[in-house]
Amino acid sequence: TDGIRPLVAGNWKMHGTSAALGELRAIGNGFLHGLDADVEALVCVPATLMSRAFEVVSRTPVALGGQDCHAGASGAHTGDIAAEMLKDAGASHVIVGHSERRTDHGETDLQVAGKAEAAWLAGLVAIICIGETRAEREAGETLDVLTRQIANSVPDGAKPSNTVVAYEPVWAIGTGLTPSVDDVAEAHAHIRRQLADHIGADAAARMRLLYGGSVKPANAAELLSIDNVDGALVGGASLKAADFLAIAEAY
Ligand code: PEP
Repeated sequence: TDGIRPLVAGNWKMHGTSAALGELRAIGNGFLHGLDADVEALVCVPATLMSRAFEVVSRTPVALGGQDCHAGASGAHTGDIAAEMLKDAGASHVIVGHSERRTDHGETDLQVAGKAEAAWLAGLVAIICIGETRAEREAGETLDVLTRQIANSVPDGAKPSNTVVAYEPVWAIGTGLTPSVDDVAEAHAHIRRQLADHIGADAAARMRLLYGGSVKPANAAELLSIDNVDGALVGGASLKAADFLAIAEAY
């Protein structure tokens, strides 16, 4: 979208031990030298790697994100991670409501909204994920699902500086399948319109809308040139520096 600096975000999911820091170093160096694409770069690493990842990229343009946070600031929640902990370890962003969290942990739209608010309180940008399942698409419900997810998982108070919305059709994640250009354009235009109703036209016009779902170097240029697509959320292809950099170069 005109005037919005694109964001290319990686999501490493449950991949990566210290051995993966070499790929992160290569990503950092790629953005530091040579890459002339005018994009912001972010890698959402496993929380266990955050501190060391921060040492690796802190002198590069690459920012770091978590992959989930708890809706509370702290407390008796064994195994959960608070937004402030991510921030303290070096993150500036956190993904909330990824479809794998919604599926694996039964997260609801309202819980996702609570996580986004917790992210803001800690000073993190929330990357709120939405998207239809295959069954919902086949039933012709895609736009209704997006409307409902925006109404319930994007809290009041969302603005371009604290929120990114990622459209990730569940059936396109990790499958190698992608929607058609027209389908992505329709979904993103719809998301922009719904956000305008929800948070106001001005904020909606400047909010970054990412596409996610099987983005690869081979399809990045096409997907990233679609109207209202202001960047990508990249899973599998973010694990290899060469692929991630090639996707950013598509801009
Ligand atoms: C994701 O995890 O958000 C994602 C889009 O994964 P992939 O790129 O592997 O489909």
